[in-house]
Amino acid sequence: MKICCYPGSFDPLTNGHVSIAKNATKLFDRVIILVANNSEKHSLLTVDERVELIKEVFKNDKNIVVMSTDKLVAKKAKELNACCMVRGLRAVSDYEYEYSLNEMNKHIEESIPTIYLMAAPEYSFLSSSAVKELLKYDQDITSLVPKPVSDYLKKKQQ
Ligand code: ADP
Repeated sequence: MKICCYPGSFDPLTNGHVSIAKNATKLFDRVIILVANNSEKHSLLTVDERVELIKEVFKNDKNIVVMSTDKLVAKKAKELNACCMVRGLRAVSDYEYEYSLNEMNKHIEESIPTIYLMAAPEYSFLSSSAVKELLKYDQDITSLVPKPVSDYLKKKQQ
């Protein structure tokens, strides 16, 4: 069975993330969405909230699995028998960050390469931080994130 990990913060999961995860299922038998517990980042949702929401979004996709990790994602991917990690690329601006992250991950776990899937043009502007910014100003985010995510965030804001 070919397994890949799709690591990230997913704070919150957006339609861009969904598109990358679904495309990854065309290449792999199992896609493990790995919510990294990165305490450095100021987060909107707890890791457990993110995992539960992502599970709800993909409840009908039997080959997408969701879990969190406190470990380095490259190490966790190896532990999970993944052959590689998947990341999404939007604009050129992602490239520089992903380039250094890739170098770091190769240093950490040489046997787990990262492959990159291009964002769909309609999501190339979409990021979790943009969603958080819109929420701050009480703007509608329903077209940017899956329904369970917008419902949950709306409820949380009340
Ligand atoms: P991180 O905090 O690790 O950068 P994110 O949760 O922001 O994690 O994103 C996880 C991965 O998904 C990254 O590779 C990022 O480039 C990618 N990604 C984020 N938003 C989109 C989008 N709109 N379309 C495609 N890929 C995306």
